[in-house]
Amino acid sequence: MTKARICHVAIPSVPFFDVFDYLAAEDDDLESLTAGIRLEVPFGKRTKIAFLMATSVESHYPLEKLKPILRIIDNKPLVSELDLQLLHWVSRYYHHPIGEVMSAAFPVALRQGKEAVIKKMPATRQEEQISRPIICNSAQQHAVDKVTDTLGQFGVFLLDGVTGSGKTEVYMQLIQTVLDKNQQVLVLVPEITLTPQLQERFEARFNTFIAISHSKLTDTQRKNAWLLMQSGECLLLLGTRSALFTPMPRLGLIILDEEHDSSFKQQEGFRFSARDVAIMRGKFAHVPVLLGSATPSLESLYNVKQARYHHLPLPERAGSALPPVVEIIDIRQQKLQEGLSPILLNEMHLTLARNEQVLLFLNRRGFAPTLMCNECGWVARCVHCDANLVIHRHKSLLRCHHCGTEHRLINTCPVCQAHNLVSVGLGTERIESVLGRLFAEKTVIRLDRDSTSHKGSLEAYLAQIHAGEAHIILGTQLLAKGHHFPNVTLVAILDVDSGLFSTDFHSGEKLAQLIVQVSGRAGREQKQGKVMLQTRQPAHPLLVELLRDGYSQFAALALQEREMAKLPPFSYQALLRAHSENEALPVNFLQSVADLAQTLNEFKVQILGPIPAPMARRAGQYRYQLLLQHDNRNGLHHLLRQLVPHIGGLNPRQKVRWSIDVDPVDLY
Ligand code: ADP
Ligand code: ZN
Ligand code: ZN
Repeated sequence: MTKARICHVAIPSVPFFDVFDYLAAEDDDLESLTAGIRLEVPFGKRTKIAFLMATSVESHYPLEKLKPILRIIDNKPLVSELDLQLLHWVSRYYHHPIGEVMSAAFPVALRQGKEAVIKKMPATRQEEQISRPIICNSAQQHAVDKVTDTLGQFGVFLLDGVTGSGKTEVYMQLIQTVLDKNQQVLVLVPEITLTPQLQERFEARFNTFIAISHSKLTDTQRKNAWLLMQSGECLLLLGTRSALFTPMPRLGLIILDEEHDSSFKQQEGFRFSARDVAIMRGKFAHVPVLLGSATPSLESLYNVKQARYHHLPLPERAGSALPPVVEIIDIRQQKLQEGLSPILLNEMHLTLARNEQVLLFLNRRGFAPTLMCNECGWVARCVHCDANLVIHRHKSLLRCHHCGTEHRLINTCPVCQAHNLVSVGLGTERIESVLGRLFAEKTVIRLDRDSTSHKGSLEAYLAQIHAGEAHIILGTQLLAKGHHFPNVTLVAILDVDSGLFSTDFHSGEKLAQLIVQVSGRAGREQKQGKVMLQTRQPAHPLLVELLRDGYSQFAALALQEREMAKLPPFSYQALLRAHSENEALPVNFLQSVADLAQTLNEFKVQILGPIPAPMARRAGQYRYQLLLQHDNRNGLHHLLRQLVPHIGGLNPRQKVRWSIDVDPVDLY
């Protein structure tokens, strides 16, 4: 042990799990070296912005090997002790390097070492026309009271309310109570597209500045939002999962809307669940966490059953809105017009004649998912992936949705030279074109990732829908979530079947959530809504049960199935993924990880694999995975703690790219 003024720092973008030790310079003021400030340090031939995690007088390294820090950037900590404790916990739980975790907690501008000052203060709010709270019904009031009673303590609440049951009203009443105490509120939503409408409702209700944080904002905007919360100047933050770590010195309440949504799980790099970490944040900060959903995740329902979460049901639509009528349309033997059945078309005409809006859901963008030769059977495949190329007619392209490869759209078969290429299957572009023909005098809006790629375009479309300028709204999952379109009375899911057959055990839960969520867009105010589900599997048990008994019954049965199969939440999983251009490398690497795990396996964790990933080749990379599963969380994490530090050593010269996904929500 070497005694000196040692700084233990976390450094982003380096493949090491631990902190690094540096020396404070002779003339550094030791008082200013507080955990939570940024430093500039030498690293190899370059310098890096690092985060000071702790100081001490001891290092495991010889003093003469330690380099001095170059510069102290901040004169006071940007994150608190409590924030650091949470980030340490997160790093340990997700087995992810502390430098990367720290980096995720800071906006890009601050990671780059920019000064922690707000360039332009937001204008103060006018006292613009504040809307009044609605009088709660008894279920809403019960929910508000329960959470209010817990302010100042930790507790998790599941606001389990059918779409349109007034969950947002419950959030707003609780937010007002916390703002009145001059405390801060963190509100998380799964999708950027959901921020504008919630922002609008909050702005109409609260006489306070609302900070917004998501990945489509500029670095400066995000830095400003972060600093406004961090300094305590702003009380209300609305954002997506990346906003979760924003420091809030007077945090009073965390709200997470659409808690079932898998977008709360980051799927690359630092694979954390914003929901689970939000709960941990609430626990560290002694504040209640309110999860809301019309279709709660099976995990959250299980936690309710285990009495870990408090259940706050809102069983009925608020106000006068009635639940929609749901019909299954058996499309076998029906003459479809580009995927639209006569029954659906008829209903669309009736709806439009009443001056009401129609919403069509199809979770596939592009014109058609397959280009095929009618003479020889050739199919346009991506050369880099195990996937077909998708036809994009508007841009005259064939595009791979997995690696982004593009080719010009062709009209001659490259194998037999026949001019007989056909588009197989349906995409949103194709439906859009048939709607243009069948409903020529109506305005159709297509909402998918292609049509909304320009900044501001989604907002413009949403405004058009709200203004009643769009008659038919067609879209992908962008539409499924949380949107409130009062004049939509007919909703159709054009292809339910694409979700019925999947190898991932989460798929049934996801499809049921999707059906209920999309259905929830119908008839949200005075007019009763109708929902049509087009399927070739009208007797599929999932559909039958869901429509007959509702989501909570469906979820209860699905939980029983998970229990029998010992799948999460009745077991805990971690997925190791590995990929490389050379097929042998990821298999051999994961096999050596599995062998090592076997030697460390005190608690008999199941070690399953290595097996090829469901999409075994993607972007030229061969992909394999190894699943670790145990019915006890501690047993699994005990093994991971032993194993993970040695994994790097099994990968000489880092030839294989690998990652760990704790609590995976997708086994792809
Ligand atoms: P959710 O978030 O559950 O989908 P919202 O909070 O958006 O539901 O409420 C749906 C509609 O019902 C909104 O127009 C809202 O103003 C209205 N609403 C909410 N609570 C009540 C209530 N207690 N009485 C009457 N209308 C209500
Ligand atoms: Zn051909
Ligand atoms: Zn590809």
